This record gives sequence, structure tokens and C-alpha cells, in this order.
Amino acid sequence: MATRDDVLEEMGLAPVWRSRARGPQAESAPATPADARMARIARLDFDAFADDVSACTACGLCRTRTRAVPGVGDARAEWMFIGEAPGAEEDARGEPFVGQAGRLLDNMLAAIGLDRRNGVYIANVLKCRPPNNRTPEPLEVDACRPYLERQIDLISPRLIVALGRSAASTLLNVDASIASLRGRVHRLHGRPLIVTYHPAYLLRNLPDKAKAWEDLLFARRVLRGAA
Ligand code: URA
Repeated sequence: MATRDDVLEEMGLAPVWRSRARGPQAESAPATPADARMARIARLDFDAFADDVSACTACGLCRTRTRAVPGVGDARAEWMFIGEAPGAEEDARGEPFVGQAGRLLDNMLAAIGLDRRNGVYIANVLKCRPPNNRTPEPLEVDACRPYLERQIDLISPRLIVALGRSAASTLLNVDASIASLRGRVHRLHGRPLIVTYHPAYLLRNLPDKAKAWEDLLFARRVLRGAA
């Protein structure tokens, strides 16, 4: 029976550890379409990135999306906010966090003197909307991961904020509650990463807004080297 790795390989999405296992030769001459795709994405510059995402057909979400949602913000942002996946309004407009949850995120940013186009970059783990906003499938996350990694490399933020459990689990490769992940400085490729609630969750659980506010203040202290 085909393993999950075989399926990924077939889709041109071989897991990173497979291509690494092929050794130094793989770097000069990609052995599979998956290797070639990863190598191409790893070389994208900031201007080419959005077009590449918009042309992506690596998973089935390309058939149901209206527009891909690569990300928005300052190419040299200090802060990078990462959510789960675009919703209906994001899918229609091609920009992350533009619905009700996005307006709350904008208000939270404004409260600490930030805005989405200055000093901030906003992206999602998935660049295309899952139909009916269902939870992303592991294969979709695997397909999009090279884009997320390239995006983090390109922006090179001083701090990453994971919005919600889904983004935090993907970024940190853990299956843990938000409560257990908040209030600590995690690391992603050497960069500090803070976990807070997803704005859509906060819209349904207003009392937790105070905790999200604490998280943002904590993140700012981390960025200033004071925590
Ligand atoms: N929820 C997300 O995680 N991302 C968006 O862009 C919108 C809603």
C-alpha cells in the first residue's frame, strides 16, 4: 500500500526529509518534481512570490479558490502575524484577514501603534481557502509549507505571532492547547514566536480579548528585548 510519503512524492510534494536524505547531489540536480518545486520556491524573491502562489496547483484547493491569498504587508516587517487559512472575504479579495476577524486584528494592531502595511506582515499557513472554511488537511498544509517557509525567510521578521491553535501547531509542530502555549517565547528557526488567540475565536469569546491584549504587550516586550 502506498504510504503518505509516496502520495506526497506522487503529487510532487516529497517531504523535506526525503529530499535531504538524497544528499548533496540533490542540491545541484533536483531528483524529483517535488525537489524541483521546493528548490524553485526556496529561490523566489519577494516580487515573484505572490505570482507563484497564485499559479500554484499543488493541492486540490486550487480548484475551489477564487483568488489565492499570498500575504500582505511590509517586505521588511519586524512583526509577522500568521493565521490558519483564508475565509470567504479573503478568498474574494486576495488579502488575508479582511473580514470581521481581520477588522479585530487591525484594531488590535492599532492599539499597539501598528498597521498592516507598516512594520507588519500578515500571512496564513494555507494560501487558499478550504471549502466552507473546513479545517486544513495535513496534505494541504504540507503542500503550502514551502511557501510559508520561504515567506518567513524573505520577510525575516524579528518576531512571529501565531494566531490560534492551528497556526501554532503547524509552526511549532506540536499538538497543544493555546493555554499551554501562551505566555512563553517559542523559537522558529532562531526567531522568537509568540502564540495568541485567533481573532475569530475572540469574536465569539469576548472576555479572552484581555488575554490577547496581554499577549501583544508581551510580544512587544520580547521584541524590545525586555522579556
Ligand atoms: N482566518 C484566518 O486564519 N486567516 C484569514 O485570513 C482570515 C480568517
